[in-house]
Amino acid sequence: DSNPDYTTPTAVKNAVFSLVPTQPISGNIRLVCASEDALKDILDLNPDVAESQEFIDFITGKILPEGGLCVSHRYGGYQFGFWADQLGDGRAHVLGEYINSKGESWQLQLKGSGETPYSRFGDGRAVLRSSIREMVASEACYFLGVPTTRAAALVVSDEKSVWRDKNYSGMTKQERAAVVLRLAPCWYRIGSLEILTMRKEHELLKKLCDFIIKEHFPEIDYESEDKYVTWFKRVAHKNLDMVATWQGFGFTHGVLNTDNISLLGLTIDYGPYGFIDHYYQFYVPNTSDDGGRYAFNKQPTILIWNLEKMYKAMAPILTDAQKQQIEEFLPTLNDYVERKVLETYLRKLGLHQCQDGDEKFVHAFLELMQQKMADFTATFKQLGELNPQEFIDKNSTENKWSLNKLADSGETWKNWVQKYEQRLASEGVTEEERRARMSTVNPAYVPRNWMLQEAIADAENDDFKKVKFLLEVLRRPFEVNEEAEKQGFSSPPPTWSYGLKLSCSS
Ligand code: AMP
Ligand code: MG
Ligand code: MG
Repeated sequence: DSNPDYTTPTAVKNAVFSLVPTQPISGNIRLVCASEDALKDILDLNPDVAESQEFIDFITGKILPEGGLCVSHRYGGYQFGFWADQLGDGRAHVLGEYINSKGESWQLQLKGSGETPYSRFGDGRAVLRSSIREMVASEACYFLGVPTTRAAALVVSDEKSVWRDKNYSGMTKQERAAVVLRLAPCWYRIGSLEILTMRKEHELLKKLCDFIIKEHFPEIDYESEDKYVTWFKRVAHKNLDMVATWQGFGFTHGVLNTDNISLLGLTIDYGPYGFIDHYYQFYVPNTSDDGGRYAFNKQPTILIWNLEKMYKAMAPILTDAQKQQIEEFLPTLNDYVERKVLETYLRKLGLHQCQDGDEKFVHAFLELMQQKMADFTATFKQLGELNPQEFIDKNSTENKWSLNKLADSGETWKNWVQKYEQRLASEGVTEEERRARMSTVNPAYVPRNWMLQEAIADAENDDFKKVKFLLEVLRRPFEVNEEAEKQGFSSPPPTWSYGLKLSCSS
């Protein structure tokens, strides 16, 4: 082996999973919240069970399901562009698979459930604030229509037993440990393949690829010689379809390392993510991302960069002809994702066709939003509620606080609206249709950082109402909710939340 790592505390060899027991968190454990939908629709559970002690013990990792197992997954990854070697589930345990009443197979995973051979310098724990963020965003993204892993429940201890650097002040503070039950058909990442390739465990690499294709890609002919090429193309397109949905909601993941890129094209590992408030194309939610590598507008190309790494990881099991096929395919991805992103924006504007000049037309709108610091979510929402004739007349946009900012630009706005009207006419979209279309794709609510911060502040004081309310509202993100309106969910975000950034410390 020309790549001896052995700087990592535990170098696991020739394995995809390690059998390892949970280390249940100590203290009195309480349920913070649960996703009724995930419990019902995925786990066939009556949501009332969430209040039971048995359920809480289960999420805590104290009781394991019968017939299940308890394993941590070994993977590696490129972090911020550099090979970081073995990473793996450093604080997560997969409890096996549940086949539900619909015949779907789901892997249950606890996060924050203790140390594993992959913990490196970490403590195997997760704190309440980041667990709330993961829980809420997983479910919110699902209801927005973003391909994503799910979260079913979150528990917290009453003991402050976890040391974290909370304010980047160098001061550490003790926080309470929390555990989230996450759900996904499987948790394989690009890094799952990379670690095997880097360690030259090629037999295992082939076995894992074969297994994933067979188990999770039934549409691929398993006997076909070109199954690896077909698979790569599927994974690439799924991931790019996913990123196109992110761009449509202003979602910025924050840490698009190859260990956080799912082989199923699902959004995984919600950490220092952010939904854009006032539009800024270089929005970076993560304090550790100084260079803006994972800025909002770079996400599509970063996904492609990651997919190239996936190709490299697969190379040892590919023939020359197959490599050539993938090498010919890779350069098509840029156009593919650009087109998907463009289609996303067109749909947000009530348009269904793609026409010449659309890129310029969409870009002009985004550019204006950025110049005027208009709110990403509110602008599209408000645009979908107002007749284009009225757009130009500023008086009539009185209560459209974000759209007003665009109208402030005068001629620029008028010109764009004129183009918009022409563009709508060219597709024969009536005003009624435009509004109906836009209301189904432009959410009233996304989990904004300020909302999460407020819910977290209360939760730190054992008041979980706001967390639960967020989960409830975000189950129907496209519907106006009276209580949410009262709480200012459609109002300009509070000034204290401007430029809020999140640390990786979680
Ligand atoms: P992330 O940046 O959250 O994707 O995590 C990168 C790697 O660090 C993964 O292997 C995680 O399992 C690991 N990790 C993060 N936090 C902890 C922790 N508190 N204890 C152990 N491992 C951790
Ligand atoms: Mg991760
Ligand atoms: Mg993480």
